[in-house]
Amino acid sequence: MLKDIFKKIDQERELSKEDIVCLLALKDEQELARLYDRADTVRQKYVGDEVHLRGLIEFSNYCRKNCNYCGIRRGNRKLQRYRMSAEEILATVAVAERLGYKTVVLQSGEDMYYTVGKLVDIIRRIKQEADVAITLSIGERSREEYERLHEAGADRFLIRFETSNRELYSRLHPDSDYDERMQILVWLKEIGYQVGSGVMIGLPGQTLEDLAMDILKFKELDLDMVGVGPYICHEETPLAGNANGTVEMTFKVIALTRIVTRDAHIPATTALATLRPTDGREKALELGANVVMPNVTPAKYRALYELYPAKVCIGEEAEQCQACMHGRIYSLGRPISQGYGHSFKRAHLLPQYG
Ligand code: SF4
Repeated sequence: MLKDIFKKIDQERELSKEDIVCLLALKDEQELARLYDRADTVRQKYVGDEVHLRGLIEFSNYCRKNCNYCGIRRGNRKLQRYRMSAEEILATVAVAERLGYKTVVLQSGEDMYYTVGKLVDIIRRIKQEADVAITLSIGERSREEYERLHEAGADRFLIRFETSNRELYSRLHPDSDYDERMQILVWLKEIGYQVGSGVMIGLPGQTLEDLAMDILKFKELDLDMVGVGPYICHEETPLAGNANGTVEMTFKVIALTRIVTRDAHIPATTALATLRPTDGREKALELGANVVMPNVTPAKYRALYELYPAKVCIGEEAEQCQACMHGRIYSLGRPISQGYGHSFKRAHLLPQYG
């Protein structure tokens, strides 16, 4: 059976849910190496060798929601909260641009202090002052707000669904609705954003079938970007005491996401580096990933954006992160992209594609 599944991969035929479950269950080192090798071949064929860097700016850790796995949920009263001003955000974008990042990712909790008017103003000013693509990761808003943000110049939007299992989704998200989340992903595409989503690996109660369905969902949604990171337990959440997701299962899901989606951008996530600081991101880049998101958030705020504990790279300034990241990528013999790193699915629509 395994032989047939690898044959399907080599012939670029679609994998079924059962095929994916079978591959997710692999334990044999040689078979795993074979899977990772196939994923790396697909990565090279569809998205090339370049690694795209996105400068991550975590501009607010306030959140109106209470997701049960998240360290910055509103119920975590122990967390010191912060918001960056428009001026601070602009100054941080300038740092990102100086370091050569052609994309900035503006990420926050669901913080309604930043009205759509405030965000539109920030986006316009970034576009006037810097030559960067803008990705937003600010959670759920109305369709009209997403439209206004896109008109102002936001190019991309990230919003994860975390799991495609409805029942698990509602257990994890006391104040979010699965159908609404999926509706938002459809809206964002319709509006014209390059759209990213993703899942967590090793959530309490998650099965291999769930993960296989997640991977097929990435394909169905035709996502431009897919983030896959391990669940890391935070003690100030209702899920305290649960085991973390594993690096090994995260690797398998990244590899299969590459094989199934082919040309999506896939980041080697910080959560992966947190569980395996020595080479978690490098390994991910060798089995399907093609994006890294160095943190450019001012160091004084970084430790406070604690989605999960013991996050790596919280003490470093942006310059140190850049030097470290460049070294890691070059050690793999991979070039760093000098372009914006837009979606491979939209290349024909983007005159400035690069
Ligand atoms: S996962 Fe996002 S929406 Fe949920 S509590 Fe954390 S920051 Fe807020």
